[in-house]
Order: sequence, then C-alpha cells, then structure tokens
Amino acid sequence: MIEIKNIEKYYASKGVKHYVLRHVTANIKQGEFVSIMGPSGAGKSTLLNILGMLEEPTYGTYDFLGEDVTTLNERKRIELYRNHIGFVFQAYHLIDEMTVYENIEAPLLYKKVGGSERASRIADLLDRFNIVAKKDLFPNQLSGGQQQLVGIARALAAQPSIILADEPTGNLQSAQADEIMHLFKKLNQEDGMTIIQVTHSEKNASYGNRILHIADGVVKEDVSVDRKEKSTIGKE
Ligand code: ATP
Ligand code: MG
Repeated sequence: MIEIKNIEKYYASKGVKHYVLRHVTANIKQGEFVSIMGPSGAGKSTLLNILGMLEEPTYGTYDFLGEDVTTLNERKRIELYRNHIGFVFQAYHLIDEMTVYENIEAPLLYKKVGGSERASRIADLLDRFNIVAKKDLFPNQLSGGQQQLVGIARALAAQPSIILADEPTGNLQSAQADEIMHLFKKLNQEDGMTIIQVTHSEKNASYGNRILHIADGVVKEDVSVDRKEKSTIGKE
C-alpha cells in the first residue's frame, strides 16, 4: 500500500542543510497497524506528515496505492489525501466554531457526499463512538478523550484507506488513552483498517503489530509485535 524509498528531508537555513530524515526506506501493507517510535526530534512527525502528503520530501520516492506521490501536482495530491487519508492530530485540531456533528460532516461536504448518505454515516459514527448525546456541543464543551473520539470520527467519515495518527493520546489521561488504543485495535482487527501512529508509549505500541524505530534520520529497527503474549483472548 505504501512504499517509501530513500526518503530524505532537510531544512536549509543560511545555506546549511539540516537533515531530519536520511534515506528512510519502508513498505507498509494494507491491514498493518504500525507504530513509529524514537527520540524527540528524530523526525517522526516529519515522516508521518510526508506519508500523509502534508509535507514533501526533499529526495526519494513515495508510492501510495500505486501512485507516485512525489510527481503529483498539488491538486492531485489534495484529491488523493481527501479520498484516502484520515489524519488524527495530537491536539485534535477540531474547528472550535463548529459542533461535533458539523466537525464530522466537514470532510463529507468536501467530498460532495449527498445529504442522506452524509446523515447516515455521521449517525453511525456518533453511535459507534458513543457520542450521540454530544452531537450539538462544541469542542470546548468536551473532555480531551471525547474531542479525540470526534477527531477520529472525522478522520473516518470519508472512509479513508488509512489512518495516520500523530501521538493521538499525547494529551490524554491513561484511561482515555487506553480507550482510544482499544478503538484503534478494533478498527484494525475487525474492519481491517490500516493504521500508522506515532507514539512515545510502549504500551500504545503494543496494540499494533509492528514498530519502526527512527533515530538519526534512519529506520534503526523494524520489529513485529507479538500480540499473543499480551492477548486477553478468553478474558474479555
Ligand atoms: P517529537 O517526539 O518531539 O514530536 P519528532 O520526532 O516528531 O519529535 P519532528 O517534529 O519530525 O520530530 O522534527 C524533527 C526535526 O525537524 C526537529 O529538529 C525540528 O526542529 C525540525 N523541523 C521540523 N519542522 C521544521 C521546519 N518547518 N523548519 C525547520 N526545522 C524543522
Ligand atoms: Mg512529533
């Protein structure tokens, strides 16, 4: 689904190149739940933003669902983003002036999804995430965990091919964080949703099935997570 090859990203200042990523190469298949980990400043967000087409690499190739993203013009890239990418942000990035309902509806309006289809998808998401009673409230009337549920509902509304999440539980208490991670695991295991998250937490990473450790601008380690050890099958 995703193939990146020799991805490089630097920021130039006063003629000096400051490298954030140096030849990052990785393949991610449909149905994987990958965690990107590594020290602060290692380039995790930069890599996720490149995968989410929010930033461009300075070198390298990026193949997403068979399209060479680095050769697309901006209009095509935005179209690919709107059709396939659901991005979840650490600080939620909801629109303060819009209700919960309107926030979830926004990507559907961009995609010109018709009225009744829109209403049924939103009702389904509100129900699934247990936030029906919150639909007419504004983001500042919700807890952090509830805001992130809305952020995830919004990311899922346009039925993306992949969820990209940058420290989705970074601002949450641990009980709320666990709820979000359970939800991700369920989306991955039951709906087959492909997920890539950036996280500092080993616990969060244990919900996924693969960890990419990034440091010094390269992938230092690419390990699969053995879920069997941590499985609660039979206890749930
Ligand atoms: P954290 O764990 O703290 O979120 P991170 O691994 O996500 O860190 P990035 O946000 O990807 O790290 O940043 C990597 C490096 O790139 C940092 O040194 C940062 O200062 C630099 N950087 C990011 N964006 C820019 C920019 N627009 N201009 C210049 N430097 C930048
Ligand atoms: Mg970051």
